[in-house]
Amino acid sequence: MARPRNLSFIPQLATGVIDGALDLLLPAQCAYTGQPSASALSPEAIAHLPSFQSPYCSKCMASTKEAALSCEDCRNSAYDFVAAIAPYKDWWRQLIYRVKFGHDQSPIPAFATLLADLMLTEEPTPPTLLVPIPSASRRSLISGTRLPERLAKQVSKRLQLPWSRMLISAQPRRPQRSLERKERRALASEFFALRSLPASVDTIWLIDDIMTTGATLRAATECIKNAYPGLSVAAFVLARANKKHLDSQQ
Ligand SMILES: [Zn+2]
Repeated sequence: MARPRNLSFIPQLATGVIDGALDLLLPAQCAYTGQPSASALSPEAIAHLPSFQSPYCSKCMASTKEAALSCEDCRNSAYDFVAAIAPYKDWWRQLIYRVKFGHDQSPIPAFATLLADLMLTEEPTPPTLLVPIPSASRRSLISGTRLPERLAKQVSKRLQLPWSRMLISAQPRRPQRSLERKERRALASEFFALRSLPASVDTIWLIDDIMTTGATLRAATECIKNAYPGLSVAAFVLARANKKHLDSQQ
């Protein structure tokens, strides 16, 4: 039985746990306004993050036709929940796309602070290991961004939590949009391999950039739970895309 979730995340970059050393990396310009700013996401940018429109799935924040406890995908998933900073649309979508494919990496520290804040909203004292989803797309590998891993490293510093490259990409992922749902599920266990886990860990928080179909997060969760059935697994992402966004950007 999933515990009730706190869905009242209000992003406030200034209240995040700031790692002093990372301030040196902060850019001089806001990614939203283009104006000089101490952070890549100024208070104005944070105020203009796209917001989730009701009704949405209380477990993964996907848009749903009617208010329901969880969407069809989540009824078949092993993760406890997926939390997203904002929906994958408007300027937030363009910014993540730009960062993911390596054209601008200055917003990564601000992304990590928002993710850390989101985690603290879910659980004030997270008892967890952070695990990034390995980048397998050819474009991410070529650009060398490995955004989920960089986010995990920085969130780890901010929240003083351990992180691990526990998941290993077992094979290049095929574009999910070309696969039928059943086929995606059957392939899930082939997506990842696992490194062994310290015995003390009982909760894993996966970190990814964008959740679209959820197939990747479900596969990662299944892979972990097959090896460690007692673990609790949840996921944190920068953006939740609706399935209609299965287009050329994925
Ligand atoms: Zn859902």
